[in-house]
Amino acid sequence: MKKLLQEIPKGALNTLGGALGVMLLAIISKQIRSVLGLSLSDTQVSSIQFWLLVFAVSTFLFVGWFLFFRTQRKLRLVEKQLRDSLTTPRKILDDYEHLKKRGFWVHRKTGQRVCGSCLIAGIESPLSAASYQDSVGRFDRNVWICGRKDCRQEYFWQKGDV
Ligand SMILES: [Zn+2]
Repeated sequence: MKKLLQEIPKGALNTLGGALGVMLLAIISKQIRSVLGLSLSDTQVSSIQFWLLVFAVSTFLFVGWFLFFRTQRKLRLVEKQLRDSLTTPRKILDDYEHLKKRGFWVHRKTGQRVCGSCLIAGIESPLSAASYQDSVGRFDRNVWICGRKDCRQEYFWQKGDV
């Protein structure tokens, strides 16, 4: 958007340049007679002046038209991006990497493990480590367990998991 605003003064400068061009044209056309020799009649000089003016004006209009449409196109693009960013919420899944063998997901930046079943439902539920004991109270095994009460999904613990 900032860039777009910078385009507008540029367009104005071009307009100013065009106006200066027309003024220059008037001066140049006075020189035509001396440049091309005195053999030209007044009518011929006026005719050259006329076509030069037509050329200048059409170039001017073309540049204006071009700038106008380019600005319009950029505006539409910015509008579309804005609409898209408003209508498409940021995907939670984009932030996580799926560890297929493990079944859970890991945050790409923080490394936080989250429950796969919950993440698919749009809930970021961290996993916590838990350990089971056997019937006589000895350590049996570690698991990763979903912290959400309605889920409690378990994932295998692997050696080296912190
Ligand atoms: Zn869960």
